[in-house]
Amino acid sequence: MFLEKLIAFYSTLRHQVGRLGLSLLPPVCILCGRLTRQTGNLCLACLQDLPILPYHCPRCAQFLPITPHALAEPVPTCGACLKLAPPFDQTFALFPYDPPITQLIIQLKFQHRLSHAKALGELLIQKIRHEWYSDAHLPDLIIPVPLHPRRLRERGFNQALEIAKPVARALSIPIDAHGTRRIKHTAPQSTLTGSERKQNVSHAFSICRDYTGLNLAVLDDVITTGHTLTALCKMLKAHGASRIDVWCCARRG
Ligand SMILES: [Zn+2]
Ligand SMILES: [Zn+2]
Repeated sequence: MFLEKLIAFYSTLRHQVGRLGLSLLPPVCILCGRLTRQTGNLCLACLQDLPILPYHCPRCAQFLPITPHALAEPVPTCGACLKLAPPFDQTFALFPYDPPITQLIIQLKFQHRLSHAKALGELLIQKIRHEWYSDAHLPDLIIPVPLHPRRLRERGFNQALEIAKPVARALSIPIDAHGTRRIKHTAPQSTLTGSERKQNVSHAFSICRDYTGLNLAVLDDVITTGHTLTALCKMLKAHGASRIDVWCCARRG
């Protein structure tokens, strides 16, 4: 606990000093506090310890039970996606929602640790470049899942947008932060039951631009049931999007 507070204090101090254009303080790992030269400020040891995403549905990233048959390529889609195809075409997730990823995301959202958004963004960049899109075209636009203005005021920032910023810069993909809006102030999905969650996000978004012919990447920090993304992507497809890939930092099983 003490170490965690010390790392938080040091990172904030370094962030503030960095804003003055100085970089006198050496970077430390955001998880263990050791000095590190890694971009994203996660040391090699901590990077190697991060949880690995289980075998999952390529469409929605829902974890799949591993059977010898299932290990065949290409990976099959899950039963839910087979029954009703979601409005997004593929889902790329970095990690399962397990420690220490849970801790990074909670601290980012509720303790204003914006350095964590940079770290998660760097991890996304590596995956996008070297695995997810190594032989595919990058999307035309990144859409961070918008927050309702009231939640944005409470939190002071949109974590999905903060994660998207380094990704957009590194890959030269524009961010579209204003074409979609959240018009319904909804209860946090994590506080609701399955059927309440679906109801909670219906009519939650409005779209104010045309996406005809565009390939989109919709970015969120955590996917729980996928209802929020389904609601948003349905509207984006109705407004012309030709393909939607979902990028997220963590997937709940
Ligand atoms: Zn470390
Ligand atoms: Zn699926």
